[in-house]
Amino acid sequence: MRYRRIVAKFGTSLLTAGSNRLDLEAMAQLVGQVVRLRAAGHEVVVVSSGAQAAGRHRLRGRIPAGRSPSRQAIASVGQSHLMQSWDELFDWHDTVVAQVLLTRRDLADRLGYLNARNTLRDLIEAGAVPIVNENDAVALDQVLATRIGENDSLSAYVANLIDADLLVMLTDVAGLFDSDPRQNPEARLLERVERIDATIESLGGGAHTGTGGMATKLRAAQVATQAGVDVVIANGREPDALIASANGEQRGTSFPAPGDRIESRKRWILAHISREGHIVVDAGAASALRGHGRSLLPAGIASVTGTFERGDAVEIRDPAGNRVAVGTTNYASGELARIRGLHSDRIAETLGYDFGDEAIHRDNLVIY
Ligand code: GLU
Repeated sequence: MRYRRIVAKFGTSLLTAGSNRLDLEAMAQLVGQVVRLRAAGHEVVVVSSGAQAAGRHRLRGRIPAGRSPSRQAIASVGQSHLMQSWDELFDWHDTVVAQVLLTRRDLADRLGYLNARNTLRDLIEAGAVPIVNENDAVALDQVLATRIGENDSLSAYVANLIDADLLVMLTDVAGLFDSDPRQNPEARLLERVERIDATIESLGGGAHTGTGGMATKLRAAQVATQAGVDVVIANGREPDALIASANGEQRGTSFPAPGDRIESRKRWILAHISREGHIVVDAGAASALRGHGRSLLPAGIASVTGTFERGDAVEIRDPAGNRVAVGTTNYASGELARIRGLHSDRIAETLGYDFGDEAIHRDNLVIY
């Protein structure tokens, strides 16, 4: 399988089929593809726009004269309708969906980031399809920097958050062209972009439909590829565009992540390594980490040195002091000191809460 974990971003113009309301047939097409991908063993997280459009349509003709509801109010109305539509369409395929609403703050804050990451991973493991949108009702403004503003960026953050293998942004255009295809009939589709440089960015132009446009898609592609995620921008109206992209077949414009995916994640974790403390594991845990790519459990921790916070990148050493790995810890140093050596079943009773069985999940570990 070319890509296992996939983030599929569906833009408003795709979900409305260009109309002023959700187009259930267009949505059903996409649902069918997600269901088939899952049946083939892929994991799919959906980032869905369309709340504003759905809300506007629902409120049409009901708004007292002279009033115009806020963007937040419109999105709140639309979001429930959007989720209801997804829920029903997926239910036809006996597939459970989950609504995940995020703001910039949730992603910028380390704890929010970890919590969102854990929830998405739990949902994937539970077999549900997470459907993510920005929490427009509370993501009030750019001044407080709580709002991302468009779902292209959101989808890149989500792809980064869950260590996706591929981000597919499906829209109503075929991809990135070397000039504006609406003005130049000779415009050529760029099939593969190795580097998003100033020349490529200039091809993004301004926004056209929805909140995003090619410019925001290119920025999102940059964020995702830097995090080691391959990106495809393709026309979602083409049959099976999502499935083809997930299988690595040429569709639209693809942006391969530079270098090895593990390498860039490693760079990221290594760049954030805490100098304030480290974890010493017993010999058994050291060999489980080195040899078998296991998660680090509290049971394998011999001691904790120095201080660090939950979410910090912390070094793991063996009893001889050799570096074994570095990883993003689910527990702060003080918490680990209390649960070290314990079976994970006892975390909750010892701390009064728990952030999962693993001290450091294997997805968040880089072995030296
Ligand atoms: N969160 C917005 C919505 O659901 C979409 C933002 C965008 O168009 O990218 O309506």
